[in-house]
Amino acid sequence: MQSRLTPGQTRWGEKRYHSLDWFLRNRFGEKVYRIALNGGMTCPNRDGHIGTGGCIFCSAMGSGDFAGDVLLPIRTQLENGKKELQSKRPVQSYIAYFQAFTNTYAPVEYLEKIFTEALGDPDVKALSVATRPDCLGDDVVGLLGRLNSIRPVWVELGLQTIHPATAQMIRRGYDLPVFDCAVRRLRRAGIDVIVHVILFLPGETEEDMLKTIDYLNRCDIQGIKLQLLHVLRGTDLADVYEREPFHVPDQDEYIRTLARCVSHLRPDIVIHRLTGDGPKDLLIAPLWTGAKRTVLNRFHQYMKENDIWQGKEYHG
Ligand code: SF4
Repeated sequence: MQSRLTPGQTRWGEKRYHSLDWFLRNRFGEKVYRIALNGGMTCPNRDGHIGTGGCIFCSAMGSGDFAGDVLLPIRTQLENGKKELQSKRPVQSYIAYFQAFTNTYAPVEYLEKIFTEALGDPDVKALSVATRPDCLGDDVVGLLGRLNSIRPVWVELGLQTIHPATAQMIRRGYDLPVFDCAVRRLRRAGIDVIVHVILFLPGETEEDMLKTIDYLNRCDIQGIKLQLLHVLRGTDLADVYEREPFHVPDQDEYIRTLARCVSHLRPDIVIHRLTGDGPKDLLIAPLWTGAKRTVLNRFHQYMKENDIWQGKEYHG
C-alpha cells in the first residue's frame, strides 16, 4: 500500500524539511562536504573595538572549535580537511568554510588572498564565510560579489535573536537594523545569506523564538542554522549558569520547540543545522546534545508521528 505523501515529502525526498543535503545534491549533483578553515582573524566583540568579553556563549576558539589550524596556510588546511574526510568515505567536492571568529574582520587585500586561495582548489564548489553584519564594508561586499561570479559565495550572519533585551544580555554588540541592512547589501551583490539562530536563550519563551522565525521569513535570506544554546566551559555564560542556573530544555522539549520553529519556517529557506555539535570536552549543558545522531533521529520521528513539515504553519 502506498503511504500518503505530505507536501514536504514530495519536495525534499524522505525528509520533512528543506535539508542542506537535499539542496547540495540538487545544486551540485552530489554530496558536498564542509571543511572548516581558520583565516586567523579575531572579532571586534573581543578585541575591544566593540567589546572585550565577546558574546556571552562564545568559546575561546571564537565558535570555531572544529576549524583548521590557524598556523597553517589555507591550502594546507584544505588538504588536511580533505584527507580526514576521505579517510572515512569517498568524497570529492567541498565547501571552504571560514568558521572561526569574524571572517571579514581584516583588510580586504588579506581577505582576497585567503578566499582566492580557497577557491583556487577546483574541488571547492562554494565558499562560506561566517561573520558579523557590522563587519561588511562596501569593499568587502564588493570582493564577495566578485568571488561569487567565480563560485557560489555564502555569508553566514550570527543573529541569534531579534529581541533587543536578549541581544543585550548575550552582548551581541549590534542592533537589528544593522542585520537588516547587511542582508539587503549582500543580496544586492547576489550573495546567499545564512542566518544563525540560537534557541532557548535565557529568558526567551517559545513565542519569542517563533517571533524570530517569523521575522526571518520576511527577510531575503536563503538559509538558516538553528542551534540549541550550549553552555561551554570557560565562557561567561558558564559563570552565569553556575551562579544562577537558567532553564535548559530536555531533549523532548527541544524537539517539540524545534519542530514548531520548522513548521513556521518559510519552505524555500534551506536548513543548514538543526542542533549544535559543540566540543564535548567543553560542554557543561545540556549534555544530551552530545548524541547528535540520536537527537536528529528523534526529531525526524517526531515530525513524522505528528505529521509536521517545514512551512506547514507558514502562511506567507
Ligand atoms: S561575534 Fe562570533 S566570534 Fe565574535 S564574540 Fe560573538 S560569537 Fe564569538
